[in-house]
Amino acid sequence: MSLYRKRLKLVKGEGVYVWDSQGRRYMDLVAGIGVNVLGHNHPEWVSAIKEQLEKLVVAGPMFEHEERDEMLEELAKWADYEYVYMGNSGTEAVEAAIKFARLYTGRKEIVAMTNAFHGRTMGALSATWKPKYRKDFEPLVPGFKHIPFNNVEAAKEAITRETAAVIFEPIQGEGGIVPAKKEFVKTLRDLTEDVGALLIADEVQTGLRTGRFLAIEHYKVMPDIVTMGKGIGNGVPVSLTLTNFDVERGKHGSTFGGNPLACKAVATTLRILRKEKLVEKAEEKFIEVEAPNVIMTRGMGLMIGIVMRKPVGRFVEELQNRGYLVHTAGQRVIRLLPPLIITKDQIMEVKSAIEGVINDISGGESRVSQEAG
Ligand SMILES: *Cc1c(COP(=O)(O)O)cnc(C)c1O
Repeated sequence: MSLYRKRLKLVKGEGVYVWDSQGRRYMDLVAGIGVNVLGHNHPEWVSAIKEQLEKLVVAGPMFEHEERDEMLEELAKWADYEYVYMGNSGTEAVEAAIKFARLYTGRKEIVAMTNAFHGRTMGALSATWKPKYRKDFEPLVPGFKHIPFNNVEAAKEAITRETAAVIFEPIQGEGGIVPAKKEFVKTLRDLTEDVGALLIADEVQTGLRTGRFLAIEHYKVMPDIVTMGKGIGNGVPVSLTLTNFDVERGKHGSTFGGNPLACKAVATTLRILRKEKLVEKAEEKFIEVEAPNVIMTRGMGLMIGIVMRKPVGRFVEELQNRGYLVHTAGQRVIRLLPPLIITKDQIMEVKSAIEGVINDISGGESRVSQEAG
């Protein structure tokens, strides 16, 4: 987060906007790193959560409650998975996925991708690629190996009868908003099926954002395990691990996982998204940014990466000065994960603002270099 030179103190939010302690308003294209899908202070969501706070917050994992039934019913309208394990963060969803894969297959080996990000607890970190996140915490969990993302030949070589699971992001998020190629995903599905391994799609970041409930739907492939987090509860900490096989009770668990408040948050978020068709509408809100030093715009729907020729820190800072909060993915990618309630007009305003900032900064630079020349 060192890119934000002036670290803002945020005090409130309303819709796509947040305000800082000086009373300045910003359009929030970070949204808590893709969390606030309904924006801030969504009236219907807030009143459902308030009601739940007064009713039942935590019940304990040994009890049933109607909020879980409500959530399962809502979830069934979106995804064809029979079982769901609930955690409290994306990394926990990935931990569960890895454990379930080892349990189900009786094998140990997990194949992950270069540039992958799956979280920061030891198992998920072992599947994460960047040395920056890993090296101070070694030794990590044994049995993990990484293959080059989008490389079909490498996948053919790496996936064997020793493989318990292959884990990948349909669009790499932290890795720079890099979509998986159709042929690669199809190869992963075919190979895992051939050797009796499981395919895990980590949709913690891609879920809800690409115009489909799951980004993997664009690939017409059905993974064995799907992880979700970030926006699924609109800010109440909750994550899901979806499977079509049951895991014996007691083999894995969590004190807070699947509590009534979290279930209510997921059920309410999904219900509002469905009513307002916000997931479907995300697809046509993708923007292409055209400006000097922009190599390309990558991603899908409201998961957008603007790939630049140079480090993006100055652009991020100037956007902040002009009232737009954006995130990054690595040194050279500006990342946008806006609330799904953002309107087409607002996202077009964002496009102009980004192009304006890049033009102004790049224009200034070429003048300087001409003068210097
Ligand atoms: C953010 C993210 C995670 C980790 O989620 P946390 O809630 O930060 O633990 C895992 N996988 C992917 C793809 C992510 O983007």
